[in-house]
Amino acid sequence: MADTIFDKIINRDIKADIVYEDEQALAFRDINPQAPLHVLIIPKLRIATINDIEPEHEALVGHLFSIARKIARDEGVADDGYRVVMNCNEAGGQSVYHIHLHMLGGRMLGWPPF
Ligand code: C5P
Repeated sequence: MADTIFDKIINRDIKADIVYEDEQALAFRDINPQAPLHVLIIPKLRIATINDIEPEHEALVGHLFSIARKIARDEGVADDGYRVVMNCNEAGGQSVYHIHLHMLGGRMLGWPPF
């Protein structure tokens, strides 16, 4: 599988505004934010899409949500509310083929998304 732009961020080949990192995951502010808080949470292991998540990845994917919970507290949006979403493939709006949770908050979010 070819590298994506997110591998370059993980490897520090390109800059990102990193808000959280551990051995398994990285979180950074989206370069084109759709809300006052818009963070992407990614595993360092490249999994291309939700369709490629295997049973052995379940703990890793769950870990991404634990990071979202921590960032929500740190960024002060936990009580007001926020959204965590992962797009899959073209019709789902995915453009970078390395799974990532979008974490959006800091304003009222509409539903459904278009
Ligand atoms: O879900 P999707 O794959 O479309 O999301 C990719 C996201 O990655 C976009 O929101 C885009 O703004 C973000 N991005 C980024 N930094 C880059 C390249 C893309 O934050 N260098």
